[in-house]
Amino acid sequence: MRPGDKQFAVIGLGRFGLSVCKELQDAGVQVLAVDINEDRVREASAYVTQAIVANCTNEDTVAELQLADYDMVMISIGSDVNSSILTTLVVKESGAQSVWVKANDKFHFKILQKIGADHIIMPERDMGIRVARKMLDRRVLEFHELGSGMAMTEIIVSSRLMGKTLSDLTLCKDCDVQVLGFKRGPEITKAPELNTPLEIGDVIIIVGPKVTLAKKIKSL
Ligand code: ATP
Repeated sequence: MRPGDKQFAVIGLGRFGLSVCKELQDAGVQVLAVDINEDRVREASAYVTQAIVANCTNEDTVAELQLADYDMVMISIGSDVNSSILTTLVVKESGAQSVWVKANDKFHFKILQKIGADHIIMPERDMGIRVARKMLDRRVLEFHELGSGMAMTEIIVSSRLMGKTLSDLTLCKDCDVQVLGFKRGPEITKAPELNTPLEIGDVIIIVGPKVTLAKKIKSL
C-alpha cells in the first residue's frame, strides 16, 4: 500500500454492503470486506483488496482486524439487528475512527445513535428523499413533437426559478421560441404577462424549434 492511500472496511456483505465495496474499489481506495458467511466473502473477494471471514460481534476477532488503521468502517448488517448493534459496539471500542452503520428502521437508528455510531444510513428512507427531490427538480413535464422540427413543451417551475419572471428566463429573446401559455393550479393564462413572478409548481408552455427548445431548457 502506498502512503496516503485511503483504507475502508465494510462489514456485512448483503446487497448494500457489496455495492458499497464495488463503488469504493472502483474509486481506487483500499477495501477490506468482512462477513461471517463464506459465500459472501468469496463473492466480494473478486473485486476488493482483501476479503475475510469473521464474526464481528467477537471482540478478539475484531481486534485482529486492526480497524483503528482504517479511515472509515461501514457496518452493513441489516436484518440481524442484534448483530448490527453488537458489532457497532465492538468496532467502536476497537478504536475505529469513523463508524458508519446501516439501520433498518427508526428503532434501530435510535439505538445506533445512543451507542455512538458516527453516521447512520437508512437506505430506503434516504433513497426516497433523493428520489422525491429529483422528481421535484424535474423541469420538463411533456415534450410534444409537432413535425417540421418544431415542438411544444411544458416546463415546471422548480425552487431555482421561483421569484423570477418569464422575461428573466429569456425564453423569447433573439430566438423563435414563444410562450403559449402559463398554468397555475387549474388556471391557464394564454399569452401571459412576461413580468409575472413565477411560483414553484407553475407550468410554462412554450413552442419553437426542437433544437432551440432543448438548448433553452438546459440553460434554465
Ligand atoms: P441487503 O441485502 O439489502 O443489504 P441486509 O442488510 O438485511 O440487506 P443481510 O442479507 O442481512 O442484508 O446481510 C447482512 C450481511 O451481514 C450478511 O451477509 C451476513 O452474513 C452478515 N453478518 C451478519 N452477522 C454478522 C456478523 N456477526 N459478523 C459479520 N457479518 C455478519
